Amino acid sequence: MRIFDPHIHMTSRTTDDYTRMAAAGVRAVVEPAFWLGQPRTNPGSFTDYFDSLIGWEPYRAGKFGIRHHAAIALNPKEAGDPRCRPVLGLLPRYLDKDGVVAVGEIGYDSMTAEEDEAFAAQLALAVEHGLPALVHTPHRDKVRGTRRSLDVVAESGIPPGRVLIDHLNEVTVDLVHDSGCWMGFSIYPGTKMSPSRMVEIVRVHGPERILINSAADWGVSDPLLTLETGRAMLAAGHTEDDVDRVLWRNPVEFYGQSGRLDLSDAGDGEPTFEGSSILRGGN
Ligand SMILES: [Zn+2]
Repeated sequence: MRIFDPHIHMTSRTTDDYTRMAAAGVRAVVEPAFWLGQPRTNPGSFTDYFDSLIGWEPYRAGKFGIRHHAAIALNPKEAGDPRCRPVLGLLPRYLDKDGVVAVGEIGYDSMTAEEDEAFAAQLALAVEHGLPALVHTPHRDKVRGTRRSLDVVAESGIPPGRVLIDHLNEVTVDLVHDSGCWMGFSIYPGTKMSPSRMVEIVRVHGPERILINSAADWGVSDPLLTLETGRAMLAAGHTEDDVDRVLWRNPVEFYGQSGRLDLSDAGDGEPTFEGSSILRGGN
């Protein structure tokens, strides 16, 4: 099984995760810029973070034979913080970089006026830079948040086929399906979405425009739930072709719209981390 995790925060994960992911068939990932838990107090913190998403983290992933690309944005959780707003002005220079395949994650957290503004401004940047957009849907009030997100997307003029609406569930999937946007599902231990529920969603909606991610980060999460979902699909009678489509070809097609996806050596060769002193730790 070849796996492309289209939404994972490797910055928060250890080399043990990379080892397990490579063994499980994960050959490519997209890491969207997000909230680090501890609020950032100035734009310089974002600059260093973005630089590591396009420099250090792809290097680290490459040691395990995994291709790493980034999505860059001011995330919804910090979009309303006046100390972070100047980050919007820093984005254009990052959106021109080779390893950046989307604007994201953007969207709503609490659905405030400030979030509205940052969301619309970043969709405009996606249009301007010819990039797809990754939209996070809020955990609270999900239906209203998803509806409002689709309205903002429609107003922005970005084609729906260049937008991925993420963290969907049984209640929001129809709305996004009808919009023509791509549908993202985060498979989490305990919350959000499970492999068995995901199997049922693919059965009802078919594999078209569906992406499955682990959204693994610094919270309770598991980078191998993409593999678990693929296995659950096969056990439930889905074909290998369907599994390959949702776990590999769909993310390749979606992010391929950036013109920057480079999968030339994805999964080739043995991981070379053993001999790398640079990955022995920062202390
Ligand atoms: Zn995320």
